[in-house]
Amino acid sequence: MSRVCVIGAGVVGLSTAINIQKLLPGVSVQIVADRFEEETTSIGAGGLFRPNTGHTRATPEHVARRWAIETWKFYSAMATSDMACETGHSVSSGYIFSREPIVNPIYESIVFSCKQMSPSELTSLGITQYPYGYQVTTVLTEMRKYMPWLMDKFKENGGKVEKRKIKDLSELFGQFDVVVNCTGLGSRELLGDMEMHPVRGHLIRVKAPWIKQWVYTDDDTYFITSGEYLVLGGMKQVNNFSLQFDQKDRAGILDRCYKLWPSIQGAKIVDEWVGLRPTRYPLRLEQETLSLPQGEMKIVHNYGHGASGVTLSWGTAVEAAQLVKDSLVGLLNAKM
Ligand SMILES: Cc1cc2nc3c(=O)[nH]c(=O)nc-3n(C[C@H](O)[C@H](O)[C@H](O)COP(=O)(O)OP(=O)(O)OC[C@H]3O[C@@H](n4cnc5c(N)ncnc54)[C@H](O)[C@@H]3O)c2cc1C
Repeated sequence: MSRVCVIGAGVVGLSTAINIQKLLPGVSVQIVADRFEEETTSIGAGGLFRPNTGHTRATPEHVARRWAIETWKFYSAMATSDMACETGHSVSSGYIFSREPIVNPIYESIVFSCKQMSPSELTSLGITQYPYGYQVTTVLTEMRKYMPWLMDKFKENGGKVEKRKIKDLSELFGQFDVVVNCTGLGSRELLGDMEMHPVRGHLIRVKAPWIKQWVYTDDDTYFITSGEYLVLGGMKQVNNFSLQFDQKDRAGILDRCYKLWPSIQGAKIVDEWVGLRPTRYPLRLEQETLSLPQGEMKIVHNYGHGASGVTLSWGTAVEAAQLVKDSLVGLLNAKM
């Protein structure tokens, strides 16, 4: 039986591991990671399906589109099924407000609906600082439900899990036929990939049950419904590695959200979260054969999803699974 190891238990690692199990049912798959669920970046993501050409900079548009469509097929099927409560997906409507017209054909053609608003529709909502607005219905993924659901699926399919930090890929030599690297920002240290960098974000969870829709602006101010909470953001600090809360950041997010949607001022703050978007332009999805003193090692890389990890994870996982299959076929042919 062939053995595959997936390093990483974020949304990318879990989706990749499940897709390998689906494509290659006879293969044994093990996840190795030093952080799970609550400790990952993925758990805190806002979870909005929002393919944005800015997020996928340096990836050819037709490729980003392919990944987004593949993810959309899965998420929209879940969101409209009776499994939605379990998987954490929901059909969700909201607004994008912008200072410039938004030209994003990837977005418009994929989501359930995306309609430009008229100036009078904007003013009737009290929006005066943004001349452009779009009413959008998309899928929202509640990561605190989706991540455990993915892990349960992986284990139900016979997957094994080990908690351990990999310091060098050569540690896994001889134990697996293919190693899949889904370590996100960890690839900076593990591979010395200095193109990997953090884009720091800060989210504040409040209780505002009177708000049912999400709002996103082109200056990264947003609020997104998540379960019984409303999540306020945001911030994009490039190359800031700090996971500490910053008083000034917190005050800035609250101030911008209060101006955007004044009724948020009445909401009680529940908690806050800081996360580092694992960013690389372009994200890395490819095969590599490592030459080690002990021999050759087949690797598939799938990391660097930046601000679009929820939006692109399933699509890149489907293709990473195919690369694992190709690597195993290559090994088999080499033995014959
Ligand atoms: C504030 C914020 C809001 C966001 N909102 C959205 C959104 O609305 N929509 C969207 O699409 N995306 C969003 N994102 C982006 C999304 O969260 C990320 O793109 C995604 O979580 C990346 O997933 P990942 O699995 O690559 O990384 P991670 O979740 O960081 O997982 C990495 C895994 O690798 C493991 N690992 C790393 N190094 C090693 C090692 N050496 N040995 C063993 N294990 C290792 C870790 O333990 C972990 O399990 C947001 C991000 C932030 C910070």
